[in-house]
Amino acid sequence: MDFWNDLSKTIYTAADQTVKETEKLTGIAKVKYKLSVLRSKLDLCYRSIGELKYAEHRGEAVPDASYTGLFSQADKLNAEKKALEKQLDALRDCITCPLCGCRVQRGMSFCPKCGEKLNQDQK
Ligand SMILES: [Zn+2]
Repeated sequence: MDFWNDLSKTIYTAADQTVKETEKLTGIAKVKYKLSVLRSKLDLCYRSIGELKYAEHRGEAVPDASYTGLFSQADKLNAEKKALEKQLDALRDCITCPLCGCRVQRGMSFCPKCGEKLNQDQK
């Protein structure tokens, strides 16, 4: 009887593990998608700023106010991007190197990019 109880427990645990892994992967895919949309918006924003700057270079009058909206939009998008990257790090169990910003798998003692000693308690 114990054998059947143990077997069903093992099956349930394995199924539970599979569901959790699937949810984690789905979560990662969702965040990655949101990040790619955000990066496209940010690219458009930077492009608009560049076009204004180029118009200035050609001698066209560009009022400072034209930049203000774009800069605040870029700030907002960058803040959202940072929050999503943090979410992605948490889902992947990564930490961010405080020196170079590289994403490193939790548990590593040093950053593989810059060699900085890593604190495992950081997020
Ligand atoms: Zn680093």
